[in-house]
Amino acid sequence: MRDFSVEAPDLYSAEPIPASAQAAIEALLESGDLFRYTTPETSPAALLERAFAEKLGARFALAVSSCSAALFLSLKALNLRSGARVLIPAFTFAAVPSAIVHAGCVPVLVEVDSTYRVDLADLEEKAITADAILISHMRGHTSDMDAILKIAHTNEVPMIEDAAHSLGTTWNGRNIGTLGKIGCFSFQSYKMLNAGEGGMLITDDPELIARAVIMSGAYEHNWKSHAIVRNAAEPWQNKLPLYNMRMQNLSACVVRPQLDMLDQRVVQGRANHDQAAKRLQDSGYFTVPASLPLEQRAPDSIQFNLVDFSEDQARSFMVNAKENGITASVFGLSTDNARAFWNWQFIDDIPELPKTRAMLSKACDVRLPARLDRAEVDYVADVLIDAARRVKG
Ligand SMILES: *Cc1c(COP(=O)(O)O)cnc(C)c1O
Repeated sequence: MRDFSVEAPDLYSAEPIPASAQAAIEALLESGDLFRYTTPETSPAALLERAFAEKLGARFALAVSSCSAALFLSLKALNLRSGARVLIPAFTFAAVPSAIVHAGCVPVLVEVDSTYRVDLADLEEKAITADAILISHMRGHTSDMDAILKIAHTNEVPMIEDAAHSLGTTWNGRNIGTLGKIGCFSFQSYKMLNAGEGGMLITDDPELIARAVIMSGAYEHNWKSHAIVRNAAEPWQNKLPLYNMRMQNLSACVVRPQLDMLDQRVVQGRANHDQAAKRLQDSGYFTVPASLPLEQRAPDSIQFNLVDFSEDQARSFMVNAKENGITASVFGLSTDNARAFWNWQFIDDIPELPKTRAMLSKACDVRLPARLDRAEVDYVADVLIDAARRVKG
């Protein structure tokens, strides 16, 4: 039996920013050029865009202030009409419907099943009256992208990917975020690359990137310093609002060296996840949905479903785990959880979504950062299994 009085691993603290980033930051502070358009072509923000596009295999990239900004600019770049219906999975972070509302569009929630994936029958039905599909790969879980792309194609609507939490994930060998018209990523501290705040928009479409670059705040002729197709941008001169969602050079300096560490983090994160998943699944108290055959995950957390727990038992389970230093939240049971769709009271007519609600009342979320070693992962699994055993006997 494990001694739980030994301190539990801290699942929330960040990793140090690599020394190479610190050198770049030092040089930047020396020059004072924090604004990306002071030295346009060679600014850290421009260099990060090029490196990111190359890493992902995308034609164009735009560095912005957050993934929320990238999602907003995606909808604006697609020139969706005001009131356009944008489908999203009902299991996502509140920032996603918020970006849609911000863009003057209407979020339409699609059911999500007990494996955290989009309910394809519901998507198919709602796609008939949709203007766009925004697939949020929540917690890095990938739905059947071939089926989703087919639905988007059949209904002639663009598909955007919210890959905020999916950097490094692949579908059938292709990077998540490159499957749709536009892919959006986050560099907020709880994501694979940490800038505190920051985001990236990628696309292969010269028209979309040109419009997004200008609207991100490339005022006057600043768009000329971007790796874009000039002919696509010129017609939009002075014709688009400037929303000023640029990334500043400091954030770009913090992120760029971390890009070289991504592959390593993906391997470690996946190993940690799979180690914990096996332990939890074998305990009999939990089910851990397997990845799809075409999906290669890049997890930095684990989600699992409580098997035959009443609501009271689920609450006791969370208390027990917390007692031993591990925060395990059942999405639907923690107060004001921003990932529970009924808490998105800023949207009109929140629908009843029984499947998603049932999933959220059983699905538990635990952070599992890539930096943990095998012993620490075992500690986390032991705490969770012990917490369940004390409830279920
Ligand atoms: C973090 C996250 C976002 C928001 O990203 P920000 O950069 O904080 O705006 C959106 N969607 C998902 C799935 C996320 O995990």
